[in-house]
Amino acid sequence: MVLKRFFQIVWLFGLMGLTQTSIAQHSAKPKRVVFLIGDGMGLTQISGAMSQYNGQNAFMRFPFVGLSKTSSAKQYITDSGAGATAFSIGKKTYNNAIGVDVDTLSQPTLFELAKKQNIATGVVATVSIQHATPASFYAHVKHRKMYDSISTFLLSGNCDIAIGGGANFIYNRADKRNLADDLKAKGFGVFNDSILVDINASKYIYTLAKDEMKPILKGRGDFLKRASNQAIKNLSKNINGYLLMVEGSQIDWGGHENDYQYMKTELWDFNETINTILDMAAQDKDMLVIVTADHETGGLTLNESDDKLSFTPKFTTGDHTGVMVPVFAYGAGAHEFAGMYENTEIFNKIVKLLNLK
Ligand code: MG
Ligand code: ZN
Repeated sequence: MVLKRFFQIVWLFGLMGLTQTSIAQHSAKPKRVVFLIGDGMGLTQISGAMSQYNGQNAFMRFPFVGLSKTSSAKQYITDSGAGATAFSIGKKTYNNAIGVDVDTLSQPTLFELAKKQNIATGVVATVSIQHATPASFYAHVKHRKMYDSISTFLLSGNCDIAIGGGANFIYNRADKRNLADDLKAKGFGVFNDSILVDINASKYIYTLAKDEMKPILKGRGDFLKRASNQAIKNLSKNINGYLLMVEGSQIDWGGHENDYQYMKTELWDFNETINTILDMAAQDKDMLVIVTADHETGGLTLNESDDKLSFTPKFTTGDHTGVMVPVFAYGAGAHEFAGMYENTEIFNKIVKLLNLK
């Protein structure tokens, strides 16, 4: 009888422990931030793709949702350079800019501010790591197509970990410089492989394709999820926390090609990656997860279908559009992301939450 009572108490405490770890009471301010950008991912992309998805809809797991106004400094319709630069430097700039303002002057990025406080940084992308979205976090160039030049900014050490495509701009450059040797001299691990293997390092550049990675439809598999897990595993070793940018890069390309299947499968892949990261954030009271887009691509609409039960997706342009995009937030400080604001406010909110100076 006494023994039974003892086991009841043990069971009860076990249950309390379980409740505490499975639903983390999040802190007011995060130490670890994962910022996910679905390039070209508007509301209709999410509505259409997720209504046809059989697994868990990651977007429904976020308690806070906001709207971001995406225009660049000089054009109502932004590109991915100005879009990501608005997030990374907190200023609207001209289309094609990377980490520079309207006067082409370099401005400190979130990564540079984070590194000053010994917060670790990283990017994961399904295009090259020198492509506009990831580049905006660690490089400063006048034009997004200056890939070789963007690549040399990896030497600055402001981006601890980069995983994606882009081997060409390290090993096969116009200036014949072997950037891998220079990166190694700066203490980076430098890897180039066709499949991602487990790495135990705090600083490394890992390329898995000459330029962009394959689309999901051509066999990329679960790279994005695995690369994100890998980066988080390594960045987590830093006691001061980390800021990781993960890009679902090719949702945009499905839109440009007006290829609904391409867009949908890339968004599903992004959704699975978000789910994995949310599972981690549920166990980590100091983690913040933000998901948004730089802009919508393709002017996608969901029109009534003949059967009246489903919809017919229809693209209205091969380019970007000017509609607002959603912002989803979960975890420490997530409530800051509710409301409607300019895309540059996302920079300000992250600066405030991480106490960046
Ligand atoms: Mg992009
Ligand atoms: Zn685009």
